[in-house]
Amino acid sequence: MTKPVNTPMNTPANPPKDCQLCPRLADYRDENARKNPDWFNGAVPCFGADDAKLLIVGLAPGVTGANRTGRPFTGDWAGDLLYATLAKYGFSNDRYDKHAEDGLTLLACMITNAVRCVPPQNKPVGAEITMCRQFLKARLGANEKLQAVVCLGRIAHESVLRALDVRPKDAPFPHGARHLLGDINLYDSYHCSRYNTNTGRLTVEMFEAVFEAVRKDLI
Ligand code: SF4
Repeated sequence: MTKPVNTPMNTPANPPKDCQLCPRLADYRDENARKNPDWFNGAVPCFGADDAKLLIVGLAPGVTGANRTGRPFTGDWAGDLLYATLAKYGFSNDRYDKHAEDGLTLLACMITNAVRCVPPQNKPVGAEITMCRQFLKARLGANEKLQAVVCLGRIAHESVLRALDVRPKDAPFPHGARHLLGDINLYDSYHCSRYNTNTGRLTVEMFEAVFEAVRKDLI
């Protein structure tokens, strides 16, 4: 399989915990660390197998989720749905218990975010999404067995496309879309946030259908 992107030689797939490239987000991390010094309060690293066939890309850490626990989607509502779904389709050992030492292992799967630091009001600005893309691009380039990427929400979708040098207009984002981009199948889903599930924009059945398709397509 060919590599999906050219990985910059000097860009790691994970930023340093105290990455300072986005001043607003670094200030917000510091603010959270002053209020809650026991929390992780840093750039959240990817979680999962280095040789993953599936990469899941979310938006950004939640302030009381990954920003608190240090593991993507861990400790908030979005993680409850995501990890239950991954277990159902054989992408984990089904040990999720809302904290980073729960013994959960992902199988052929890795999770990351388009923006690695928690943004105020869960809303990163464009410059922050663009700045953090170097780490997403490095992640995509480092997973040599990668076959599938699930993008949770439009921001993750567009950042992955730009990391793969694909124009967003050539691969639009409806929920449930699948785009073949070189060797990679990109699947789109609405984000599994509490807001989306409470409003009915995303149902459990809709979310599971995305991962059922991924499971069927993976070689
Ligand atoms: S969002 Fe990404 S680029 Fe910005 S400070 Fe955090 S790790 Fe660095």
